[in-house]
Amino acid sequence: MTTPHNPTEIAREAFRQLAARRVPPTPDNYSALYAEISGQTLADETFPEKELKRLAQELHQAAPEQPRLERDLSDAVRHRNWSLIRKALADSLSSLSEVQRLAWNRLIGELFRQWENKSDITPGKKREALEHVLAGSAGNPRTLFSRLEGLHRTWARGDAASDIDMTYTGLDVDLENDASPVATIPKSDASISAPAGKAAELLPELRELLAYTLESCIAPLLVEQPKLAKEAETLALKLRKATALKQLEGAQATLKRFAFKLALAIEDQTELRSSLLKLLRLVVENIGELLQDDQWLHGQISLIRDIVDKPLSQRALDDAEQRLKEVVFKQSQLKLGLRDARDALKNMLSGFVDHLANFTGATSDYHAAMAQCAQRVSAANNIGELESVLAEVMQKTRAIQTDAQRSHDDLLQTQTRVAEAENRILTLEKELAETSRLIRHDQLTGALNRRGLDEVLDKEIARAERHEVPICLAMLDIDNFKKLNDSQGHVAGDEALIHLASVIRETLRPQDTVARYGGEEFVIIFPETDLEAAAAAMTRVQRELTRRIFLFQNQKVLITFSAGVAQLRVGEDQAAIIQRADAVMYEAKKSGKNRVMSAPA
Ligand code: GH3
Ligand code: MG
Ligand code: MG
Repeated sequence: MTTPHNPTEIAREAFRQLAARRVPPTPDNYSALYAEISGQTLADETFPEKELKRLAQELHQAAPEQPRLERDLSDAVRHRNWSLIRKALADSLSSLSEVQRLAWNRLIGELFRQWENKSDITPGKKREALEHVLAGSAGNPRTLFSRLEGLHRTWARGDAASDIDMTYTGLDVDLENDASPVATIPKSDASISAPAGKAAELLPELRELLAYTLESCIAPLLVEQPKLAKEAETLALKLRKATALKQLEGAQATLKRFAFKLALAIEDQTELRSSLLKLLRLVVENIGELLQDDQWLHGQISLIRDIVDKPLSQRALDDAEQRLKEVVFKQSQLKLGLRDARDALKNMLSGFVDHLANFTGATSDYHAAMAQCAQRVSAANNIGELESVLAEVMQKTRAIQTDAQRSHDDLLQTQTRVAEAENRILTLEKELAETSRLIRHDQLTGALNRRGLDEVLDKEIARAERHEVPICLAMLDIDNFKKLNDSQGHVAGDEALIHLASVIRETLRPQDTVARYGGEEFVIIFPETDLEAAAAAMTRVQRELTRRIFLFQNQKVLITFSAGVAQLRVGEDQAAIIQRADAVMYEAKKSGKNRVMSAPA
């Protein structure tokens, strides 16, 4: 083809070449082909090679520790590949911000070390200086970084906290806008006598600091109490907006309420933490014991896993701690008993076998000796020979008699030892029964027993009073339980109790507590619940019990109950609320059973 001359021809050929060479039809590729066809050095003129090379050099100066950044850009420029250039620049930017982040890490580390180790500046002074830096740099990370660097330099020189180094670069604007340089902050006692104007100047800064503390320090600490965390954030917003006196007063009242709730939450958290530690210690202390026996280990570990899976609560931890203690205790007792019984049996058996072997050995020797003696008697020619045989017979007989006596004595001794072992097992069984009384859970249904109920109810009543929240208690008694026992047997009665306890547990909330109060009577505690809601919950159990009907030997057995619900009155103790719930339960029985009734508030 002849070389095209006019621009239209060159342009057409350029398009044709784009298609023929299968290159993407980008403006760059088009320009390059156009230049090639026209014989001009278009690319050389339009490609800013010089500028880009300078940029690469500057990049190297800015980040000499990362030579790859410069190398990638230079390569891309050499190949005049815009997409590679773009990529190299983007990589540089993200690497540089990485550098920036590393610098943050270093700076925070340094500051932290100074905070810990610099004893010539009091913690109060350190806090004051840091708070000032934080408050003055809100919203601008660059400012904050430079100011923290200044603080670091000041502390490194050992200056007083009030003389923070402000000679950092690039911050002139921020510094000029800073209404109150650190050196002018009045000390807390001086502020009392400071003129009103100066105090008023401090107000926005203090407000911002308080808002910042609420939003960035307190709210993140309240992960377990999202409602309270939300309140902290809302309060921070309210504070920031509060400029008029009325708004400030409103914010102050909210802050007071919030502070009160926060104090309660902190108290709860401290209690929670110490329970958690106790629990952990218990597990660790017993882990050696547990490792001996796999089933126990699995049981206990799954218990802990259940608790860890649920949201952490004081109630769940208390319960787990108690259950774990009981299991560990019972396990160690039973193990001891079993080991003793096993050892006694082993000793007895091996002793008996030894005696038997000795004795039979001795008697067969005796028999052989006697046979020999008989032969010698019949072969005897004179009285002298007979005398010696007789002496041997007497000696052997005496020996076997001694052996028999010894075996007899040994067997008597073994018998005594067996009796002793039996006695020990009896004592152990008694101790175990004693332990069961100390244990807080009913062995049949797994619900709390009376002792457990006492403890939990005490705690829940105290908690309700402290937080000023309602708490209810229900007393439940199975209807016509005697009839069920009489007609279906005691085992059916037992299984009915187990069934009822599990229906109650599965129908109610995890924070509600079920306790077996007596034979077929249960008490349920409903924390943070009013009378209406507690009665509704009991009705729900009633419904659930008819839905999940109890099966005994594949036969449907209908269980119903009567219940009385009472809400704790101010100043009421646990005996009084139980008595009121019990009285109203009897009302329910009298009015025809299978119903839930509430005590007057
Ligand atoms: P009401 O409807 O008036 O409550 O009548 P009831 O038959 O349920 O009440 P009563 O107090 O006359 O009988 C309770 C029965 O519960 C008596 C006792 O044999 C039985 N019981 C108590 N504890 C247990 C237990 O642990 N297992 C079994 N199977 N029965 C028990
Ligand atoms: Mg009863
Ligand atoms: Mg009953």
